Amino acid sequence: MRLEILGASGGIGPGRRTTALRVDEDLLIDAGSGVGELSLEAMARVRHVFLTHSHLDHVAFLPFLLDSVFDRLEGPVTVHGLPETLEALRRHLFNWVLWPDFARLPDPGRPVLRYRPMGPGETREVGGRRLTLLPVAHAVPAAGYVVTGPSGGCFAFSGDTSLNEGFWEGLNALPRLDLLIVETAFPDSEEALCRLARHYCPALLAEDLARLRHRPRLLITHAKPGAEALIARQCRERLPHLAPRLLRGGEVFEL
Ligand SMILES: [Zn+2]
Ligand SMILES: [Zn+2]
Repeated sequence: MRLEILGASGGIGPGRRTTALRVDEDLLIDAGSGVGELSLEAMARVRHVFLTHSHLDHVAFLPFLLDSVFDRLEGPVTVHGLPETLEALRRHLFNWVLWPDFARLPDPGRPVLRYRPMGPGETREVGGRRLTLLPVAHAVPAAGYVVTGPSGGCFAFSGDTSLNEGFWEGLNALPRLDLLIVETAFPDSEEALCRLARHYCPALLAEDLARLRHRPRLLITHAKPGAEALIARQCRERLPHLAPRLLRGGEVFEL
């Protein structure tokens, strides 16, 4: 299983793209501005999109992806996620106001977008890869995913979250965890904001990570633009045993 990081920033700017992960050629986790790194041919090969939640930095490029390749697609792109996430897309994004409803285009009988809701703890198998949705705690209903490849390699991605039970319990129940990508949106000076907006700062992340029984490679994502170096340093200081580092767009992992 090949994991490619298309976007791993908490914002935009030169060299910064928002959250999008590509698993092999056909599967995305989130569709932030990182999707803009893909060629037309690569976009047309995407068959499944698993969303962590409805915030724009995680979904904004899904409408553009569908619009760019709808004439090349032989079947619908399946969008997976919590029912609340998919309902938010239906009501607030693909609603004919912000963007056309691709669940009814180009033909209501043969649309290029279809929704498949998932519940907490549910596992979906897609071409030999297994994706399990784990509940997290963010400002809107949100999830992380555990992804296990055909040869047993396993990574987890938190999406956006603050202190929570579900994600860490789910990880502790796994037989193995090779790679953990977890958000840390703000430095410790913004802990009050993190509690309000439901993100991690290094101190809050360390609190939850203390419960993890695995020793995966730890990569930090979603850092606020301009605060990346500070967040990375604070994470290293709080979690020296895990030697965390910042995840970068363009990185590739074989699992
Ligand atoms: Zn969010
Ligand atoms: Zn976000």
